[in-house]
Amino acid sequence: HPDSVPLLEKLRQFEPISMRGMPPLVWDRAEDIQIYDKYGNRWLDWSSGVLVTNAGHAAPEISQAIVDQVHSGLLHSYVFGNEKRAALVECLAGVAPEGLKKVFLLTTGSEATECAIKLSRAHGIKVGGNKKIGIIGWERGFHGRTLGSQQAGGMAGQKSWIVNEDPAIMTAPFPDGFWQTDTSFDAFLAAVEARGMKPENVAGVIMESYQGVGPDFAPVEFVRQLAEWCRKHQIVLTFDEVQAGFGRTGKFWAFEHYGVTPDIICCGKGISSSLPLSAVIGRESIMDQFGPGSMTSTHTGNPVCCAAALASVQKIIREDLTGNAARLESTLLEGLRQIQKKHPDYIGYVSARGLVGGMQTMVKGKKEPNHDLAHNIIERCFHKGLLLFAPVGAWGQTVKIAPPLTIPLDALQDGLAVLAEATDEAIA
Ligand code: PMP
Repeated sequence: HPDSVPLLEKLRQFEPISMRGMPPLVWDRAEDIQIYDKYGNRWLDWSSGVLVTNAGHAAPEISQAIVDQVHSGLLHSYVFGNEKRAALVECLAGVAPEGLKKVFLLTTGSEATECAIKLSRAHGIKVGGNKKIGIIGWERGFHGRTLGSQQAGGMAGQKSWIVNEDPAIMTAPFPDGFWQTDTSFDAFLAAVEARGMKPENVAGVIMESYQGVGPDFAPVEFVRQLAEWCRKHQIVLTFDEVQAGFGRTGKFWAFEHYGVTPDIICCGKGISSSLPLSAVIGRESIMDQFGPGSMTSTHTGNPVCCAAALASVQKIIREDLTGNAARLESTLLEGLRQIQKKHPDYIGYVSARGLVGGMQTMVKGKKEPNHDLAHNIIERCFHKGLLLFAPVGAWGQTVKIAPPLTIPLDALQDGLAVLAEATDEAIA
């Protein structure tokens, strides 16, 4: 809308270029699956903010919990206990698998993954000495933008600022079956060996439960072998559930699709319906390595964020939003498959699990990412009232879909119709 231009211009003036991107939207309010501006426009939100509102935008009971906490006390210091923090860590330990009973609250997803890397290394050194420090992440993986999290990530194009890369951090080929066609565990072992790493020198493996750029899941058998390999060699296995957790994929934790249990879970985003909170959940022997006062963070356990997270997780459980995501998976997947069937030369593959899906756009007839096409489709959707992320993926080729888990069937179908139409027009 023309009236939103001055504000958008101000952001362009005072924020770094890295903050620019689509869409040119100045929101006014949000309600469940809808976002509104001041000028009478409304969008169906298929981005959940940035995957932060699994429980829907501004759910009244979550907003109320936040307001109540603001009124009952804004004091924050992790040095003192508070009710909401205690309730939240108990709740998170309760929803974690057997054996993962310690919860460390942080603020961002990057901090959580950075912390997992630190805990893995400390554990490696403890059980295997000074050489057991290796960390394995994955090509095209993403764990955040801090020094450790970004090195363990696999977005090669974003690492130019990292000089003296840590030689003990490597990224292995991620077996998605499209970009990396050899999905065998032997291929993984060969890659590790080629980097000169031996299992006895590896402290930790960190893996997104699904790679956000797809969404791409690894083969179940691959992950089972990986978990067994980690167990055998005392390697800490971390699943990064920052994006995948809290019902997104039709299971509460996405790693449940593999039938394995990690040693550490990192979570964030959808945990707290827009307030900044993340968590590291892990085994006691791993979480309790640092003494009193030596693993903390200023904002850990902020009571307002804890109140938001507690109310969000309770809503996800009470309303079985995980079940809703599971039930709608086939509709989402089928809708995307129809689009691909119509445009096989331009859509390399589509994928969906629960309520996260993606379309990989290609240069006509080639296995080459097509950022321009992804951008074009997303822009057309925006003008038709469907809000999507700016293109994601290692090459910006992915049209990604992640509505709040509260979405009903008809709104999902409506959005798919818009996406199909926008894709037709963008390719025509
Ligand atoms: N891990 C994953 C899987 C993510 O998707 C993200 C955020 N996109 C992060 C970590 C980093 O989280 P944050 O941006 O909160 O630091």
